[in-house]
This record gives sequence, structure tokens and C-alpha cells, in this order.
Amino acid sequence: MYERIINEKKLDAVCAIESLKCNRCFGENIKIDEYGISHCLDCYDYFNITSLDYCLRLKRNLSHNHNVLRVDFPLTREQKSGSQFLVNCYKERKNALLQAVCGAGKTEMTLELIKLFLDERKTVGFVIPRVEIIKQVFKRMKSYFPFTSVSCLYGGCILVMDSPFIIVTPQQLIKFYREFDLIIIDEVDAFPFKDNLFLERLVDKSKKDDAMLVYMSATISGKYKKMIDNGELAYFLLAKRYHEQPLPIPKFIQSDGLVNKKVFTLINLLQEEDRGLIIYVSSIKKATQLQNIMSIEGYSVQAITSETLNKNAVLKLFSKRELRILISSTILERGVTFKNVDVIVLQSESEVFTQSSLIQIAGRVGRMGDEGRVIFFASTVSKEMLAAKKAILEFNKQL
Ligand SMILES: [Zn+2]
Repeated sequence: MYERIINEKKLDAVCAIESLKCNRCFGENIKIDEYGISHCLDCYDYFNITSLDYCLRLKRNLSHNHNVLRVDFPLTREQKSGSQFLVNCYKERKNALLQAVCGAGKTEMTLELIKLFLDERKTVGFVIPRVEIIKQVFKRMKSYFPFTSVSCLYGGCILVMDSPFIIVTPQQLIKFYREFDLIIIDEVDAFPFKDNLFLERLVDKSKKDDAMLVYMSATISGKYKKMIDNGELAYFLLAKRYHEQPLPIPKFIQSDGLVNKKVFTLINLLQEEDRGLIIYVSSIKKATQLQNIMSIEGYSVQAITSETLNKNAVLKLFSKRELRILISSTILERGVTFKNVDVIVLQSESEVFTQSSLIQIAGRVGRMGDEGRVIFFASTVSKEMLAAKKAILEFNKQL
């Protein structure tokens, strides 16, 4: 059901906060003000709701067209077995975790499963943390399911009310109550999902009681491992990328500060060939700072961050090699594909670079079956760097 907050009692409405529990986010972090009115602090950021408000829960009228799944390319053997695994989980009524490296084509493995649910006139939520990726997946899903009403939902978007298939940010799940029969969550082991009880509650609130959950991730942390060991989650590991190339093993180089002679020497060496280079830094401020330094030195360089307005134009220039070096905050971790690129991470010991984000970054290289280098510059080797390297070696062993 789709939820709207109103300030008068209606038939299908429930009190927004009752018995010190919030009905919008299922939180119990309630504060009572001097007038005796309760406020939920957990979902305060969306907009303040109080015990004087109501959640109006609306049943959506879904348009169930005849669903046709149209994929113009053959799935690899591994993708097919991933897809079959999910279909089997559906038959056995089991939740599933699909572990796959970047570039393995995880999205395509979910198509058969999604179609099964849509054909049964059920609702599907595909949860993706990043808006950039949502836009891409939305486009792809629309072409895979040309006759189905697919929609996407992120901050500032208006939901197409009759859509049975919604691609949505985790934060926007707050608008649903017992809505989805299938929820697929991408990158469940990374920010913002990792250890985030609030978002877990939103998943819990938006799914139907008997819904199927599919988690997808490049890494698995203790919690999911435990669920797999307990038999609560069916597990499938897909280590191969669709072009069957191993992931590049990151090389660590000791380096202090953001840039220095060592870094520039390597950049110059990499740039001798006709290849692109993506340099990752830990913040927008550092991206701008590095762009200024490198522009003065005469490099063909441009920073791309969440604040860059013409992102697509910059990416196009880089694809065509009219721009040789891209400096990125973590915005380009996933979802982008370039041919013949190398990757450098500066200050990779920063806490911004988790195991999962470093694996994703390494996965930018060699996505088209080509080869490339991945170098992490750091003052000291962090635990996350070591864990990322170890996981990549493990993945490659499966090849
Ligand atoms: Zn709340």
C-alpha cells in the first residue's frame, strides 16, 4: 500500500504515532513535547510527523499488462545458472543472496524471477542506493520489459501509481506499507545498508509478510554469512565476469599526502599509452583541489563529483579520450563502463574507502575484457585494503 501523511482521520488511516511507536518508520525513538504531542526522531529528516498526524494507506490500482521479457543478447552460462538459482529459490519459497563480482551482470540474472512475479500480478521492488544507477537500471528494465509499467522512485520523483515494478532508493521505501511481493536489494553489504537498522526497518515495513527477499552483493559480512550458515538464506556465488576475465589485483604503493612526485611519476608512465585514467579521491573538496593542481601542470583532466552538473557530457568526453584523466569522488564506483582504463586511488587508507567500495573501484578496470592496472596509494595499508585484495584473490580463484 502506498502511504500518504495527512492531518485528519480517514477510514484507511492509522495514527502516525501510537503507543510510542511510529507507524511511518516503525521506530520507537519518540519524543513527547511540552504539549503532550509525540514526535518521531528517527524519520524526522523526511518531515516532522506527530501523534496528531495520520498515515493514509492506499491500495494502488496496478496495471497488469501481458509481460514480455525481451533480452537481445544471450546470457552467459554463469548468468543462466544465477538466474536458475533464483527461480529455484522462488519455487522453494526461500530468500536468497547472490554474491557476484562487479561486471558479472547481476541485474540480468534477476529478470526471469521478476517476470515470474509480474506474471502472477504481484509487485516487485528493486532497491538500489544510488540515483545514477537507478536511472541506468530503469532504462534497461524498460527495454527488457517493453509492455510492463516500470517506474522509478527517488527524491523529487513522482511515482507512476499503476506500476507493479518499481526501482527505488532505500530511503523512498518509507512510502510503502506491505506493498511488495518481491524485494531485490542491490549492494546490501555496502553503504548505506550496512549496519543500518533504520533502512532494514523500511524494508520490513514495505514488504508483504510472505514476500521473497533477494540480496545482491560483491562481499558478505558476518551477519549475512550467519544467515547463510543457519540456512535462512540460500546462497549463490558467481565469481566470473561476463567476459570471464579475472578482476585486476590492486597494487599498494606507500605514499604520504594527497599527491607527490611518486604519484605524478606513475601518472605520467600510465599516460604514455593511449589509455584513460580514473583517479579516486576521498572527498569532493580533494577532487577539486587535485583538478586545480593537475590543470596547472597541463594535464587533460576533469573532476566529476555529485556536484558536477554536466556529468554525462564529461563521461562522454572521457569515453572518446578527448579527456584523458577523470578525478572522481566515490560517485563513479559502480555502474560505469569504459574501455582501456587504469585506476588509481589516492589516500586509499581513508575510511571512505571500505572493502566493498575498493572492490567496486577495482572492478572499473577490464570490464570490456581488456586489461588494466589498479593502484592504491596509501600512507599505511588499511584493514579494508587488505580485505579487498584478499576478496579479489578469492574471486579469481573461482575462475
Ligand atoms: Zn518514524
